[in-house]
Amino acid sequence: MSLINEAGPQFATSVLTIDLGAVKSNYRLLAERAGKAVCAAVVKANGYGLGAEPVAQALTEAGCTTFFVATLDEAVALRAAQPQSIIYYLNGLMPGETDACAEYRISPVLNDPGQLDRWAGFRFEKQVPPAALQIDTGLSRLGFTPYEATELAATPERFKNVALDLILSHLACADAPDHPLNAQQRDAFAATSAALPIATRSLAASSGIFLGPAWHFDMVRAGAALYGVTPNRDKPNPMTQVVHLQAKILQIRDVDTPQTVGYGATRRFTGPTKVATVAAGYADGLPRSLGNEGTAYIGEIAAPVIGRVSMDLITLDISNIPDAKPGDMVDLIGPLNDPDMDAEAAGTIGYEILTRLGRRYRRRYIETAA
Ligand SMILES: *Cc1c(COP(=O)(O)O)cnc(C)c1O
Repeated sequence: MSLINEAGPQFATSVLTIDLGAVKSNYRLLAERAGKAVCAAVVKANGYGLGAEPVAQALTEAGCTTFFVATLDEAVALRAAQPQSIIYYLNGLMPGETDACAEYRISPVLNDPGQLDRWAGFRFEKQVPPAALQIDTGLSRLGFTPYEATELAATPERFKNVALDLILSHLACADAPDHPLNAQQRDAFAATSAALPIATRSLAASSGIFLGPAWHFDMVRAGAALYGVTPNRDKPNPMTQVVHLQAKILQIRDVDTPQTVGYGATRRFTGPTKVATVAAGYADGLPRSLGNEGTAYIGEIAAPVIGRVSMDLITLDISNIPDAKPGDMVDLIGPLNDPDMDAEAAGTIGYEILTRLGRRYRRRYIETAA
């Protein structure tokens, strides 16, 4: 294990450790699963909360050459760290964005006919960056409708100044392999994209990779699974965990009935209990819904969250851990409570657990050998 970088508040009482070696091995696994398709990486929302720059650097070292972000700002920021990579941004070419795409060699995803015309009408001084076209095959969110895309196919002159190199669509239910929409969207994508100019075709994100080769087309776009989130909620998680979040015990007290703990007095003690107050709360990204639901660990021993999650603190029942003391670190995300398990307790998904991770942690980037 080697330490790559460490940064954050000087007196931080919580530490977020991000294993870039695990990101690399996840990339290799996904690339292998994708077979002949190219594996691109999605590093939007600051690399799912883990740091777009260090994550992209690690992925580049693992062989990734193509990145997706959500917004033009994210793309421009990534360009500074990734001078060579291909960078697409998914949210679409909004008015006023074309100059920056040209300047920073950023490829927009064109999501409607107006965006295509805006791109086609721009006078590029240098080379035109390639652009992608998105087709909405059932998510009803972004992209050309199949009707718009078919109409477009009949008027090829509209592509004249567009260096279209990628056609993509996005699956709605890929984490539920038996859902009928998976095959419907695949067939709609195959049919609609076949009528458009020849380009790389991409449909699958993390979960879609595990649906099988019929969903892979020419490129897959892996996001969450790179960061350890399970691609299929009903099966064992094949990904390696990337994130370890630890926070310090600030104080320990012994309490007994009829006392309660936390705001709203939502938890009443039924007998002698040892309570640890720990330095992380909803301002650090812990969902408030973990109150009376979440589980932290000290070593391998579970310490349930009791009472509500406060802004800066949580309280744990450590009655089973008599030798715990102030200054000890507890695992808020770790081997026994990974982001998916935390998400389950909080009524959300691993994606949200990661992208909410706060700014008060000391962030340590390490690289374990694969
Ligand atoms: C976020 C996103 C991805 C990545 O999805 P994961 O489920 O995180 O792998 C791929 N494509 C599009 C269009 C996205 O919005």
